[in-house]
Amino acid sequence: MTGSMVSIGECMVEMAPTQDGLYSRGFAGDTFNTAWYLARLMPEGTTVDYYTAVGTDGLSDRMIAFMGDGGVGTSHIRRLSDRTVGLYMIELANGERSFIYWRGTSAAKRLASDRAALAEALVGRSLVLFSGITMAIIDAEDRDAFLSALQTARGNGATIVFDPNMRARLWPDAQTMRDTITAAASVADIVLPSFDEDQREFGDTDPQATIARYRALGVGCVVVKNGAGVVYAQDGDEMATFEPVAVKNVVDTTAAGDSFNAGFIAARLGGAGLRISIEKGSRLAAQVVQKRGALVDIAD
Ligand code: AMP
Repeated sequence: MTGSMVSIGECMVEMAPTQDGLYSRGFAGDTFNTAWYLARLMPEGTTVDYYTAVGTDGLSDRMIAFMGDGGVGTSHIRRLSDRTVGLYMIELANGERSFIYWRGTSAAKRLASDRAALAEALVGRSLVLFSGITMAIIDAEDRDAFLSALQTARGNGATIVFDPNMRARLWPDAQTMRDTITAAASVADIVLPSFDEDQREFGDTDPQATIARYRALGVGCVVVKNGAGVVYAQDGDEMATFEPVAVKNVVDTTAAGDSFNAGFIAARLGGAGLRISIEKGSRLAAQVVQKRGALVDIAD
């Protein structure tokens, strides 16, 4: 199968502690992580692009080069001379990881401000992926136009995939977050939430309630991830559950959901059934949580 995919959002510089105040630099971000894994999983001939905005400085150049090295296409990425990329540092205290972010003025906030560039990046796509973090970080006045552009892509045949990825600290208030997440899910064909977030933010009592809430918006396929718990899904009239393989040595759950999304999408587009596609996503995520970092080498 060939096709043309684009994932849209923010990739950031990651500073991860190594030893004695030293850090190693990486690049990561939810929608980028999914694109990076998709580039590994999709058959030859499939285009997997990332769409964002970065600066024109050397660090932005290195981020773009890193994406290209991972097989992710960068030709549509906007370059803004007055901005640069966002950054986060991982802090380790007594074995607990915490994250500190510098992203308030990042170039990616403006990824939807050039309507023509956005429309151009969406032309001819078979699949478009975005997340609640994409919606949170883009300038608020661009959100409606961004969703309209996705609607147009959908009308032109693209499957729209949305991961709600709700991060309260990126939003001015909980109601704005819920309203925007609901509007974003309404333009999607596939929604891939994580139950703990939907329980917390929408008060869903169980994964079936999460499925019902998104399906009521017209979403055809909903797959509810749930950490080590059972995944529940419905696509049209087909329902499925899958219990992830137990992982004894969980090292770092960063990008568990992002990699699951890639494994699920690749399998589903390849013609696999709903349950098998969930299994593929879970097996990939199980590999990812056993290694440190968002982007890890995976077995075939
Ligand atoms: P989450 O977004 O945390 O719900 O996780 C996404 C997916 O990663 C889950 O559906 C599982 O397939 C996998 N996963 C996350 N945490 C674990 C864990 N502790 N053990 C096994 N699989 C996990």
